Amino acid sequence: MIVAIDQNLCTGCRECAEVCPAYAIVGEQGKPQTIDTSRCVMCGQCVQKCKSYVSILTHGKDAYEKVKKERNIPDCVQEPLFAAHAVCNIDKVNAALADPEKLTMVQCAPAVRVAIAEEFGADLGTLAPGKLAAALRKIGFDRVYDTNFPADVTIMEEGTELIKRVTQGGVLPMFTSCCPAWVKFMENTYPEIKDHLSSCKSPQQMGGAIFKTYGAELEGTDGSKVFSVSVMPCTCKEFECERPEMKDSGYRDVDVVMTTRDLAWLIKSKNIDWDALAEEEFDQPLGLYTGAGTIFGVTGGVMEAAIRTGYELITGQPIPDVEVTAVRGTEGFRVSHLKVGDLTLKVGVVTGLKNVVPVIEAMKAGQLDLHFIEVMTCPEGCVSGGGQPKLLMDTDRAEAYAARRKATFDHDKELPYRKSHENPAIKKIYDEFLKEPNGPIAHHLLHTKYCIK
Ligand code: SF4
Ligand code: SF4
Repeated sequence: MIVAIDQNLCTGCRECAEVCPAYAIVGEQGKPQTIDTSRCVMCGQCVQKCKSYVSILTHGKDAYEKVKKERNIPDCVQEPLFAAHAVCNIDKVNAALADPEKLTMVQCAPAVRVAIAEEFGADLGTLAPGKLAAALRKIGFDRVYDTNFPADVTIMEEGTELIKRVTQGGVLPMFTSCCPAWVKFMENTYPEIKDHLSSCKSPQQMGGAIFKTYGAELEGTDGSKVFSVSVMPCTCKEFECERPEMKDSGYRDVDVVMTTRDLAWLIKSKNIDWDALAEEEFDQPLGLYTGAGTIFGVTGGVMEAAIRTGYELITGQPIPDVEVTAVRGTEGFRVSHLKVGDLTLKVGVVTGLKNVVPVIEAMKAGQLDLHFIEVMTCPEGCVSGGGQPKLLMDTDRAEAYAARRKATFDHDKELPYRKSHENPAIKKIYDEFLKEPNGPIAHHLLHTKYCIK
């Protein structure tokens, strides 16, 4: 169970069913709802929307504590707990931290740094990478790394794959594969288009595979000693990390996932004073990232990052404007034609999983002329993910998404490197370990297949 609805708490308002992109929530109005697990893609949008809750005030201390215990939520938590909820893995993280045999390596997704401070009373969309790194170190992780680094690796791998497909006649359009809920939806509903997906693993899984191989080598140990933890804005990332094929190094790429909300609970349970934290850096080299890596957190960001690198790899010239504003925005489906040397690159960006259905149908009917399509399940990409801080009012949610998006682009602007291929740590890992994008080592560790039953 990654996402579930507590039958004792659900009031049957069915607001969750309105936001569920997979039509997976079933039940009569006014009666407890259930999730059809054959359809659910574990995006957690129902978790964000749910308004039925248990609190000490409404149900009494015993009832509240019982729910908390059932869900493995730390004792310090006193906030209302909602009927629609996601699995909480804090106990597994604590067990690994307490194990002297384990070298714990943690990575944080780009959308976490623009949202976690909200859990400690900061303004919506406060950018806090320095406090985030400091908090993770204080919790006790041995290495504090960043998913933005494997996001840069993803661009090297996915960009190279796209260029090969375009120039050598591969299956087009190619779809991004970094959103596991979109991948699950495709596997559930449209398995016949699986060859259109990039074979790249998501940044989270690439990060985990790198920790257990190159990361272990840097420490003079082997992958069996490394415990790989992810902090994600996404409830579906736990499902992704449990996929049986995600262990090409011989070890599971990622051992456990915490959401942004879980991390806030963990920080509180360790009595860490967020406001008093002095900013720190992520560890090197697997925590060094570019602006291209950080914009993965917003809709259109993967596409923009890919174009920043793809343009320069194809033409050998600097891209005229690093900010590819043509692919930004929040509309459900956006198409752009971009001049890349002699090629007109035709790209599309889908945000909100329901919006992908007409795109796929048009593609199947031969009415879609595009090279590359980004798909993100959540309404504005990962900044609005199911594991992000929860807001009850729709207006607050819209404000938060806009503020987190702005903070993401502000962060991109302030970083010294803004293109994945210019990241010195990317050059280093390809020189020392991966050798070449889409080469044999990269293919073995960082790529995968879909629709494996
Ligand atoms: S997790 Fe997503 S797909 Fe599953 S029931 Fe909730 S909203 Fe629907
Ligand atoms: S858009 Fe991001 S947060 Fe939402 S399901 Fe996809 S990967 Fe997860």
